Amino acid sequence: MKYHTACHILSAIIHNETGAQISGNQLGCEKTRVDFSLENFDREQIQSYEAKVNGIINKSLPVSIEILPRDEAFQIPSIVKLKDAFPPDIEEIRVITISGVDRQACGGTHVANTGEIPHIEIFKAENKGKNNRRVYFRFRNDQTDQGF
Ligand SMILES: [Zn+2]
Repeated sequence: MKYHTACHILSAIIHNETGAQISGNQLGCEKTRVDFSLENFDREQIQSYEAKVNGIINKSLPVSIEILPRDEAFQIPSIVKLKDAFPPDIEEIRVITISGVDRQACGGTHVANTGEIPHIEIFKAENKGKNNRRVYFRFRNDQTDQGF
């Protein structure tokens, strides 16, 4: 739950900061890594993403869940781009909102408040081919807890 919610925040930060498309699965989160499409990035940028994620954790923002009718969910800009990923017979969509940070369709489990998440560190960043970058994160001082 904690890793998964942290992944929402990190994906949102990278997307907001760079405009990069988040790839991988629907959410762009695969346990403790985020894949995204960007030509270049550097160590300073990565550290700034890490600091921003930890800033959101410090703010103790509420994380809420809504079940919205399909048409209503697809009026949300961060969700409409996933439209093709949803089979047409799905009538209701579960929407996760991290207040002021992220709004995504997601069926996963989340903490109720970002303050429940330990601080993260990005410990590895890779180039996975042209315009394809991957960052890995873990919790600081908590490297045995794989809480997802
Ligand atoms: Zn989620």
